[in-house]
Amino acid sequence: MSKVLETTLEIDLKALTHNFNYLKSKLRPTTKFLGVVKAFAYGSDAVEVAKHLQHLGADYLAVAYVKEGVALRDAGVTLPILVLHPQPVNFKTLIDRCLEPSLYSFKVLNEFIEISKNLNQSNYPVHIKINTGLNRLGFTADDIEAVSDKAKTNESIKIKSVFSHLAASEDLNESEFTLNQISQFKLIAKNFSELLGYQPWLHICNTSGVLNYPEAHLDMVRCGISLYGFGNNPKYDQYLKPIASLKSVISQIHLIKKGESIGYNRALVAENDMKTATIPIGHADGLSRIYGKGKGFVFINDQKAPIAGNVCMDMIMVDITHINCDEGDEVIVFDNNHTANDLAASTGTISYEILTAISNRVKRCYIK
Ligand SMILES: *Cc1c(COP(=O)(O)O)cnc(C)c1O
Repeated sequence: MSKVLETTLEIDLKALTHNFNYLKSKLRPTTKFLGVVKAFAYGSDAVEVAKHLQHLGADYLAVAYVKEGVALRDAGVTLPILVLHPQPVNFKTLIDRCLEPSLYSFKVLNEFIEISKNLNQSNYPVHIKINTGLNRLGFTADDIEAVSDKAKTNESIKIKSVFSHLAASEDLNESEFTLNQISQFKLIAKNFSELLGYQPWLHICNTSGVLNYPEAHLDMVRCGISLYGFGNNPKYDQYLKPIASLKSVISQIHLIKKGESIGYNRALVAENDMKTATIPIGHADGLSRIYGKGKGFVFINDQKAPIAGNVCMDMIMVDITHINCDEGDEVIVFDNNHTANDLAASTGTISYEILTAISNRVKRCYIK
């Protein structure tokens, strides 16, 4: 990996291949693979990642919103795309762009049927979301008879899959709850298929579902964070490779005298003489203000430099009193060795949040 000259997110597509192959090795050959590329492929680059997954042989993609699916179609992505959380206002666009909706309530089901009919669709593929305990989106066991009646009497739609989402698949202390979600889902899906008279695909596993509950892989799995290199557990992290590395450079070095302050609100007053480096990355780039005042850190010449004072919009100052370095030297915010997990843990959040926060302003480059 080359030295960067400005703040850069390096996206390693070889690591993506590695993670995809690792996950595939956990699946039966008949289980389909859906790559979750919502939120700019977890803050990296949805188009590059989606195209690469298509090239690797993924069966499906998923995004959260219609707009994200449209961006993939505009870029020439041809895989089927499940939209996990669409709004009816976008259903016409969704159909125009061959995206497939998750239908999670009677309101969205009815509106989708209406619009698909008006657009003279027949057997338009839809995916029915079942709520098995996350209590976020989805139909319940009591709803499925009415849902199947609607599906049977409206030939504008065809139920391609029935799915649910696990609430705590990464937490083995909650395995009883998770196993209950899985068995509830299987039962609801069985009754639903009988009512429908055909068998849609079934899927319930996200990353930690895939890794912790192999008996629940069913017809398809939906992997997000693992594709990007995190397994929500050190046991699995060791087999995965983070695809994104966030790097920057030292813009300027300052010698600070005891008693002087650093940055906005004078949030740090030097207790002794110290040395700081100013780095061109701030909260507008996705490094939240929460990381200020020593909570967050970067690495310079492999040594840890805590953030001094508040995070600014476009920069941070870090404490390099004990680090031998020069202006122009490389700064690692996270990479393979100093992972986004470690930085996230410093403020009690998770890798998902720090990755998806990296803003559009940060230059992307690709290792192919
Ligand atoms: C985001 C999402 C996933 C992916 O979850 P990971 O833990 O990142 O693998 C899967 N399914 C649904 C419904 C999601 O919203």
